[in-house]
Amino acid sequence: MIQKTDAVLLKKQDLRETSLFLTFYTKTSGKIYGVMKGIRGQKGQYGFSPQVFSLNEVVFYERKDKEIYTVSQCELKDFFATIRESLERTSYASYFIELINSLTAVSEKNEAMFDLLVNSLKMLCENASPRRTARVFEIRLLSLLGLMPQLRSCIGCSQPLGSKALFSLKNGGVMCGACAAKERGVIPVAIGTLNFMDHVNRSDWEFVSRIKVSQEVGKQVENILRRFMDYHLHLKPKSLEFMEKVLA
Ligand SMILES: [Zn+2]
Repeated sequence: MIQKTDAVLLKKQDLRETSLFLTFYTKTSGKIYGVMKGIRGQKGQYGFSPQVFSLNEVVFYERKDKEIYTVSQCELKDFFATIRESLERTSYASYFIELINSLTAVSEKNEAMFDLLVNSLKMLCENASPRRTARVFEIRLLSLLGLMPQLRSCIGCSQPLGSKALFSLKNGGVMCGACAAKERGVIPVAIGTLNFMDHVNRSDWEFVSRIKVSQEVGKQVENILRRFMDYHLHLKPKSLEFMEKVLA
């Protein structure tokens, strides 16, 4: 069956002389692997080689070995040129696609995940701060993965939180002072931090890019999300290491 859909290119590897092995995140089929023939070199059939984190319309069909498709067409829809003009924005885009590639299974359709990726790339392309875009991406990604921390009430006793909240990495949410007293490794967290995360998680996308955040809250959100994702996802994204070395 021939399929046609929008797809973001996650990864590109050379395969033999004139073929590419491509990993796409597609709107209709989730992550797929595909082989595209005859694209390298001047006489290539398609005349261009798709770029990582570009948005394309692709046509693909099944081969004998099912897991890998033949990609017969790949038409560029958005190159996200503004991102590519900046090393910082390019690193963030690389971080997004690295997370999507690591955290999704093959052929698992998730249109919300696709939209999150495309919308985050668009946000990176606009004037939004790359840091804020990354926090929005992480929060909504956790939510789509079913890993969003509980932020509104204590995860131990369900009481609403007072002015003081503690974040438990292990339990995946906030705790009141009494419950947290029995726990190890809890992090004090400001209410503003929790409100920001909750807002980003619940708001429609149109509002998300406009949610303002102080530098202090931004830093705390970044720190908590980083530690939370380390704890639960066990990833060491290469793009993150690069950012820490080069952009710090
Ligand atoms: Zn409690």
